[in-house]
Amino acid sequence: MHELGVVFYIIKDVKKVAEQNGVQHVSKVILDLGEVSMVVPYQLQDCWKWAVQREEMLSNCILDIHPIPAVTFCESCHQEYATVTYGKICPHCGSADTYLVRGNEVEIHSIEVD
Ligand SMILES: [Zn+2]
Repeated sequence: MHELGVVFYIIKDVKKVAEQNGVQHVSKVILDLGEVSMVVPYQLQDCWKWAVQREEMLSNCILDIHPIPAVTFCESCHQEYATVTYGKICPHCGSADTYLVRGNEVEIHSIEVD
């Protein structure tokens, strides 16, 4: 399952940061999750709840997901638009010369400790 892999990746990162800072227990992890990251939030939560119980440092740790809306930038008319609504074609000028500005991230925003 894709989400489980993401959870293990997050846990590894959180543990590394916690160890570097001498933290004993992490109570909350705030995650930036892009709208087009292909990660399903409720599945991520399910995997998270299962995985953190296997880690002493993260027992009962809450995963707080911050959704990041996907935005695409058009190189032709230099405007931004909502990726999920319009896809790769710019709704302002019809150009396909576009790229994703944000919305693909799966990043730890911050962690809270006891
Ligand atoms: Zn355009």
